[in-house]
Amino acid sequence: MAVLYCLIFLFGLAIGSFVNVLIFRIPLKKSIIFPASSCTSCGNRLLPLELIPILSYVLQRGKCKHCGVKISARYPLIELLTALVFMALFYKYGISVPFFAFAFLMTILVAVFFIDIDYRIIPNGLVIAGMAGGMLLFIYNCFRPMPEIFGDGKWWTPLAGLLPGSGFLLLVAILGSLIYKTDDAMGMGDVKLMAPIGMFLGWKLCLIALVVSVVLGGLISLALMILGIKKRKDTVAFGPFIVLGTFAAIMYGWEMLNWFMRI
Ligand SMILES: [Zn+2]
Repeated sequence: MAVLYCLIFLFGLAIGSFVNVLIFRIPLKKSIIFPASSCTSCGNRLLPLELIPILSYVLQRGKCKHCGVKISARYPLIELLTALVFMALFYKYGISVPFFAFAFLMTILVAVFFIDIDYRIIPNGLVIAGMAGGMLLFIYNCFRPMPEIFGDGKWWTPLAGLLPGSGFLLLVAILGSLIYKTDDAMGMGDVKLMAPIGMFLGWKLCLIALVVSVVLGGLISLALMILGIKKRKDTVAFGPFIVLGTFAAIMYGWEMLNWFMRI
């Protein structure tokens, strides 16, 4: 069992290093496959020994081997974060179809989390990749229903997930633009992002994800305003809260749903 956890951890680190590539290259509209990674300062191509997640960073003491420029600690932290998310998913689902499905979704969402904070965009490419994965899961679920994800064996539960997420946010976006006469009350990126999440979670867990992200987003925006970090008119990126809400729903969705039903 410990060996399996180690393997999942290493798998997560490797995927985490790919997540760094996504975060760095997608907003700049660069290919995510070519060319191989190089130092952003001196342009030296990184050798295999410099590409080992976390270890290379520690061994090189956070500096480029060639020019000595400091490498952001965010790279190893994102690798570590991805590995921890994968271990949590393995703890919850074991080696199973839901594990691989959610590992795929969370890989996209970790990238979305940081890209939305940095650039205030949710790239269409990531949403489309998520939709492709969601369609595969939907087709698989038609043949072998997965009540551990969707709560029931109905074939249409993943499709119905499109409604609470995207449908609700679309409504908020339309109302927001009518009331405030601006287009950015709720970004269309958020509406699009909820579509693949709905397919992966089904409508019940998607509803939980939405509630958690709205509550978290509200509380943290309020805290930022009270602390004077943000002004009332500033907007806060909502994507990261959707990512947190989705992860919470994947890990504890049914427990939360039972809790909501009792109050
Ligand atoms: Zn360098």
